[in-house]
Amino acid sequence: MKKYDVIIVGAGPGGVFAAHEFAKKSKGLKIACFEQGKELVKRHCPIDGEKIKNCIHCKTCSIMSGFGGAGAFSDGKYNITNEFGGNLYEYIGRLQAISLMKYVDDINMEYGGSGTKLFSTANSDIKKKCFEHDLKLLEAQVRHLGTDKNYVVLENLYKEIKDKVEFHFDTQVTKVIKTETGYEVETTEGNFDCDKLIISVGRSGSKWMETVCEDLGIKTNSNRVDIGVRVELPYEVFSHLTDELYESKIVYRTKQYNDLVRTFCMNPHGVVVNENTNGIVTVNGHSYEDPSLHTENTNFALLVTKHFTEPFKESNEYGESIARLSNMLGGGVIVQRFGDMIKGRRTNESRLKESFVRPTLSATPGDLSLVIPKRIMDDIIEMVYALDKIAPGTANHDTLLYGVEVKFYNMNVELDENLETECKGLYVIGDGSGVTHSLSHASASGVFVARKILENL
Ligand SMILES: Cc1cc2nc3c(=O)[nH]c(=O)nc-3n(C[C@H](O)[C@H](O)[C@H](O)COP(=O)(O)OP(=O)(O)OC[C@H]3O[C@@H](n4cnc5c(N)ncnc54)[C@H](O)[C@@H]3O)c2cc1C
Repeated sequence: MKKYDVIIVGAGPGGVFAAHEFAKKSKGLKIACFEQGKELVKRHCPIDGEKIKNCIHCKTCSIMSGFGGAGAFSDGKYNITNEFGGNLYEYIGRLQAISLMKYVDDINMEYGGSGTKLFSTANSDIKKKCFEHDLKLLEAQVRHLGTDKNYVVLENLYKEIKDKVEFHFDTQVTKVIKTETGYEVETTEGNFDCDKLIISVGRSGSKWMETVCEDLGIKTNSNRVDIGVRVELPYEVFSHLTDELYESKIVYRTKQYNDLVRTFCMNPHGVVVNENTNGIVTVNGHSYEDPSLHTENTNFALLVTKHFTEPFKESNEYGESIARLSNMLGGGVIVQRFGDMIKGRRTNESRLKESFVRPTLSATPGDLSLVIPKRIMDDIIEMVYALDKIAPGTANHDTLLYGVEVKFYNMNVELDENLETECKGLYVIGDGSGVTHSLSHASASGVFVARKILENL
């Protein structure tokens, strides 16, 4: 059986940045990375909007899997902050978390991202305006690579590390077995041995991660899911925020239920896209740095966080069931005009055609109130009106709402301050650990663990 010093499972940002750190500093260690998806240039989603309009459920989803992970075709927004994107700081400290996110940013600049803008909420008047209307703007620096530059950075990173780290694409890891000296990793291409194992399987690997924890007796817990819609409106409505901040994370506490609603993943001049998680189609969005690819719209998500208490533990199942309902009624994602929602009627093809906002995703016009629970729908409507005060036009009749957007949170794997499980030598990083939910946090966790392993070897 082939043996490595370190095996990394998953080539998303967590795995790639761990691999890069080893490639840079490991001096002769044998490192392998197993990835169920394809290498970057071979990643293609078959949906072309003409012959194939809807998800055909490929064996591995090229949007979510492969070199670069779920982040490969993302908007490439690297948020340098401890306020959102994960709670890495709780394990490794606030200063170190920020310092690693800045280190990741330096690498992104070195590999093709230079020239992109770093936005900041510091000293922004928008913060004051938000406070005046019961809204809170979260603090962050945001590097916007854009989908195109993000891709170039990944291409360059791969070129740099591919001769120093052995990549095995189209190879799924199916089981992890603890041995006397380390771990045996069972894959679709045979079994491999290693001293140290880093698992970085993101959201798409969440179900598999659960089985690993069950097999090895690693404790986990999970009780959170975020449910909401993606809003699409003319670029001008949010331009005073997006021109200055690019991404503004704004939180609001609803008067009716005291629930928190937040904006998430804002994409000026962007496009709304399908996202496939474990065969369920939800909605997401991104935008390009290249002005020739800009659209006339801005999109962002409005999400309501649901924390469940005893006895219910299946928060992701709850989110999936709601997404499944929209898939059942709409064959995928449903789109509705805000005005139709307020009037309690569905949006149909002819109403959508009349809309001043041209949709960037071909979704099924329908009625989101048949899908989204009333409490969440009420929260979203209240938030739309609250945002209308700082960005007039948000509550316009033709504002489009796509549903559903669900942010699944992986269960939290019990980890120590080194992101190591109770099984020594087994580290879990990135979104698959439950510790991170973003590009910058996932990447930083990869660098952190690679350094820890290098210190100890
Ligand atoms: C459309 C979209 C847009 C996004 N935009 C942003 C953004 O602008 N900013 C931001 O901060 N975040 C964004 N995100 C979230 C971001 O992509 C993730 O937080 C980040 O990719 C997590 O990195 P990761 O390495 O933990 O996991 P992932 O990127 O999910 O990578 C995990 C990898 O592991 C592989 N894998 C899973 N199971 C196995 C297995 N058993 N064997 C082998 N391989 C396996 C998967 O194929 C995958 O390639 C976006 C996500 C999507 C889907």
